[in-house]
Amino acid sequence: MMSKSKIFAGLATIGLLATMSACNTTPGATPAGPGAGGDNGDGAGGGGTVNVGIKFDQPGLGLKEATGYTGFDVEVANYVTKELGYDNVNFIETPSAQRETMIQGGQVDMIFATYSITDARKERVSFAGPYFIAGQDLLVKADNTDITGPDTLDGKRLCSVTGSTPAKRIKDEHSQGVQLQEFDTYTKCVDALNSGTVDAVTTDNVILAGYAAQEQYAGKLKVVGAPFSEEKYGVGIKKGDVETCEKVNAALQKMVESGEWEKALEKTVGASGFTPDAATNPPEPEACS
Ligand code: GLU
Repeated sequence: MMSKSKIFAGLATIGLLATMSACNTTPGATPAGPGAGGDNGDGAGGGGTVNVGIKFDQPGLGLKEATGYTGFDVEVANYVTKELGYDNVNFIETPSAQRETMIQGGQVDMIFATYSITDARKERVSFAGPYFIAGQDLLVKADNTDITGPDTLDGKRLCSVTGSTPAKRIKDEHSQGVQLQEFDTYTKCVDALNSGTVDAVTTDNVILAGYAAQEQYAGKLKVVGAPFSEEKYGVGIKKGDVETCEKVNAALQKMVESGEWEKALEKTVGASGFTPDAATNPPEPEACS
């Protein structure tokens, strides 16, 4: 695996040439009605507002703060939607378990929310991307020594989020004797870990690193650091919308080639000290279907 400095190398040079990405991060922007894309109906933008689903509580990825929205998902969403011709982004919270339903119901037009591309989800939504590859990992108390991987969880209390891939994988493929506690957000799991009601939290390494780096948990929590899955973050869109998918993929490629992808990653995820896997990042978008 490449060092953090290597994966982010080139920033200094490429970053200078790159233009700033869109920054429509004001919370409380006039909400458009469900399904109101503000475009001309062909997914091509043409000004107007696009409803984008993100997470509101994942530092470094999708976070709602007093001053606006921050995180890598937010940066990618701003870049892509601007490329698609939208003037304004209306960010809406899409918790893990509600993502497919919110795309299907038209409450959001696109989702950038640490949203893994899976065959089961493809039955209900389509995906552009991937634009990032993470891996499932475990978060434990800093002084924990007996939880070292997914097969060391029998008899332990593990927390994850309803409708996420990590919760399911532990039960299906690893510790069947684990006591799984599920909440609707990872913030609740991390609080439970800190207060001692659970022994570990599981989700993607990049998400866990963001929590561990939060000031209130400094020195208290640690990521085990042995990822055991490949989580390909896709852009969720209406099932079968190949036209939008291809436009999003072109925008993602441009973001990587221009250096903006790396710059955005450094600015957001970089803050936690997390090192993305340079063997898989940045990924090539897959064919749209
Ligand atoms: N990437 C995983 C998923 O889509 C976990 C993160 C999340 O719940 O957003 O389920």
